[in-house]
Amino acid sequence: MEADVERRGAGGRDERAGVADHSFAVELMQHLVVPTFVLDPQGRVLIWNRACERLTGVNAEDVLGTKDHCFAFYDERRPCLADLVVEGRAAEMAALYTNHDRNSCSAIGFHAENWCRMPRAGSRLYLAVDAGPIFDGAGNLLAVVETLRDMTVQKEAQLQLEQLASKDPLTGLANRRAFDERLEQEWQRGCRAGALAVVMLDVDHFKTYNDNCGHPEGDTCLRSVSSVLAGVAARTGDLAARYGGEEFVLVLPGTNEAGARAVAERVRVAIEALGIAHPASSAAPVVTVSVGVAVADAWHTRAADLVARADAALYRAKRLGRNRVEVDLDLEPAPS
Ligand code: GH3
Ligand code: MG
Ligand code: MG
Repeated sequence: MEADVERRGAGGRDERAGVADHSFAVELMQHLVVPTFVLDPQGRVLIWNRACERLTGVNAEDVLGTKDHCFAFYDERRPCLADLVVEGRAAEMAALYTNHDRNSCSAIGFHAENWCRMPRAGSRLYLAVDAGPIFDGAGNLLAVVETLRDMTVQKEAQLQLEQLASKDPLTGLANRRAFDERLEQEWQRGCRAGALAVVMLDVDHFKTYNDNCGHPEGDTCLRSVSSVLAGVAARTGDLAARYGGEEFVLVLPGTNEAGARAVAERVRVAIEALGIAHPASSAAPVVTVSVGVAVADAWHTRAADLVARADAALYRAKRLGRNRVEVDLDLEPAPS
């Protein structure tokens, strides 16, 4: 029994931790269903409760008195939240956790969330972590308590919902909502002044395509057009979205007018090259698209202006015969 207590890190007077007698605390923690571990002021594991053993697959005897607790959660040595609190490095939470904030309810602790590899348990878990310091009457740090909650199911459900909310179900591309969000983000990020382009496309004579080939064939055609767009927008930061109906849009950060024009032409040619027979198009014997391009300029003040300009260019492409690319040539206003 005594050995068992010792194994759990409770040994009456424990000079290591500078704690007079924490056997009561150890017993209490062993009974908690919440996975919990405690570090001493040197960052060594003082308590590792049974719920923590179950969650991590790591036995208390393997970590007590060591600084190896991180390997219960990660493959590599890195600080856990409790280590950051022990070492007064809470400012580093942002770099080390997916989600983080100062714990609002206790005002003395910290909250963070992360995907953890759990090498011993063999499962990837999304853990919500709270860590808080315990001080003695003189304000000296006695220990830091870290509690863990497995939030994997909730996180996966949330990610799935986010996916559903941002994806177009027919084509798998981003939907209009995701497009609006991304464009605004890129705009806020300052990708202006000739370095943020929007490309809008509209399938030519798609109503007559549907009328002649049937709506299901129309859907298949939209999927084929989408895969071309997804391939073109594969660069990190680019986004291809279904704007609505048979209209699509590309957001191309860091792209100037020449670059955007080249991308637009590549898309137009690739869609024509799909060779999807269109029996009633004035533009070509196959499905084609008309494309409008606009590039952000320093004197434009709203992301929405960029979309309106790309749309205007697209409709010029329609008027000029379809199956072509037009670039918005919005000239800088003359100084007054
Ligand atoms: P234009 O060359 O001027 O663009 O002519 P259009 O016929 O393509 O233009 P219009 O806007 O008149 O027609 C768009 C058509 O796109 C009508 C609509 O039925 C079809 N459409 C919109 N969404 C879908 C869809 O999800 N699936 C299918 N199959 N058709 C769709
Ligand atoms: Mg249309
Ligand atoms: Mg159309």
